[in-house]
Amino acid sequence: MSFDLHTVLPHIRSHLEHAGGKTSDSAEEIEIAGLITADSIHRSGSQHVSPLGIPRVSAGRQRFYSEVIHTLERQYMSAGLQLIRTHASLVEYLQKLDAAELPSLLCIPSPKGSEERDDLTRIRAETSRLAQPPEILILPPNTLIDPDELPFYIRDMPGTFSAFRRRIEKRSYDEYRFAQGSAPDLHMDGPAADRLKFFLFESDAISRYKETRNGLGPGNYSSRLSKWLAVDALHAHDVGRSIREYEQQRVANESTYWLIFELLWRDFYYYLFRSVGDLMFTPRGFKMIQSPGLQESWRSDKDIWHRFRSWVRGTTGQDFIDAIMRELYATAESSNRARQCAASYLIHDLNCPWWWGAWWFEYLLLDYHPLSNWGNWAYIAGVGADSRPVRHFNIPKQAAAYDPQGSYRKWVAEQGWNVPGDVVPRTAPDSAMAQG
Ligand SMILES: Cc1cc2nc3c(=O)[nH]c(=O)nc-3n(C[C@H](O)[C@H](O)[C@H](O)COP(=O)(O)OP(=O)(O)OC[C@H]3O[C@@H](n4cnc5c(N)ncnc54)[C@H](O)[C@@H]3O)c2cc1C
Repeated sequence: MSFDLHTVLPHIRSHLEHAGGKTSDSAEEIEIAGLITADSIHRSGSQHVSPLGIPRVSAGRQRFYSEVIHTLERQYMSAGLQLIRTHASLVEYLQKLDAAELPSLLCIPSPKGSEERDDLTRIRAETSRLAQPPEILILPPNTLIDPDELPFYIRDMPGTFSAFRRRIEKRSYDEYRFAQGSAPDLHMDGPAADRLKFFLFESDAISRYKETRNGLGPGNYSSRLSKWLAVDALHAHDVGRSIREYEQQRVANESTYWLIFELLWRDFYYYLFRSVGDLMFTPRGFKMIQSPGLQESWRSDKDIWHRFRSWVRGTTGQDFIDAIMRELYATAESSNRARQCAASYLIHDLNCPWWWGAWWFEYLLLDYHPLSNWGNWAYIAGVGADSRPVRHFNIPKQAAAYDPQGSYRKWVAEQGWNVPGDVVPRTAPDSAMAQG
């Protein structure tokens, strides 16, 4: 489940272009308005509970979504456009409009997962029953490589990232749309754009990214753009194009290439979903196998929920993992290295169902994205896109390599962060034991 802005794209430019306008002047002629409805965000209400017996979306992420909407309102206003917010669903909202007010065209973001796809199917069916059904245009996905640029049919989508990347890189990145021209930056202000400019042009941190990207805790070792990319407050094309500009103006090296490489992971999971569909969200994954970390008889393991709770609460006794889990709960952020270690530990050392971890991350992460989260969890669990059967990290070795002086663990300890005991139920809910 993600935050989806139905009929409105935070990156206003795409919205305008696809609706036929190019600038705010022509936008006035065709009366473009953004619309935020309750179709997807309604699931963020506290009544919507995951199988862990906790809400789908934490209060922290809801606050982040409110900030994004606030920025959007400002951006729409300064582009001379209207942004309408309603607690109604899209169809309920349309039903209340007079015939003259009904839009002729609805631009809807490309679905980010199976729930969003189901929402879209419902919206299509319901709008088709309106007296004057609007035309529905599904906007291209927020990917670096557009669907029509893929060098293969989606049915031939490679099952591993390396094979996918090799196919994409048969062409130079300069030949892809994202690298070409400079588009009007109608939406390029606000916190996402500020962070992008800082990571590239103000700090030059991108020029060292390949060496620094395995950092931990706060800092500029990685771009920290994921939370805005996840809700389309930033478009992958803009990040890609900015990297190309940086390479032309400053330096092109392995690090600048590596940021493109990492962005391509988002595309990989998006196109994988287009290829394998809902299997990406199932316990056996698209490989349709039992996770190697999990016993067939896990349900009769009396201690399994206790181990899961100790992971959630950062009380496993493994100090590196405990620091990661406490930071995650307190900040709703976590570096890629930390996420990989936490996931591997839950799956391969604590032998818990990987999807419990995915639900926990889904609840907390500010940058939660259905495909990136569930795709990465399935990968580490051995039921996803990894060509290796098991990806079991040796945690003491990881801690020694990435936190050699223990400064990250010390920093977390100094914050005094604790995860409350009632953050997940004390006994396993039936819903948690039912899945899988
Ligand atoms: C178990 C697990 C769960 C994850 N859940 C999410 C999630 O819900 N949302 C999310 O955006 N990322 C997720 N990731 C991927 C990755 O950890 C984050 O994208 C990254 O840490 C974000 O920090 P950054 O923006 O500084 O990344 P950078 O290192 O600066 O990378 C640039 C961008 O590339 C993309 N990216 C990088 N690595 C990956 C990856 N492995 N998979 C997909 N995209 C990637 C992100 O959009 C990121 O912003 C997960 C990884 C793991 C191991």
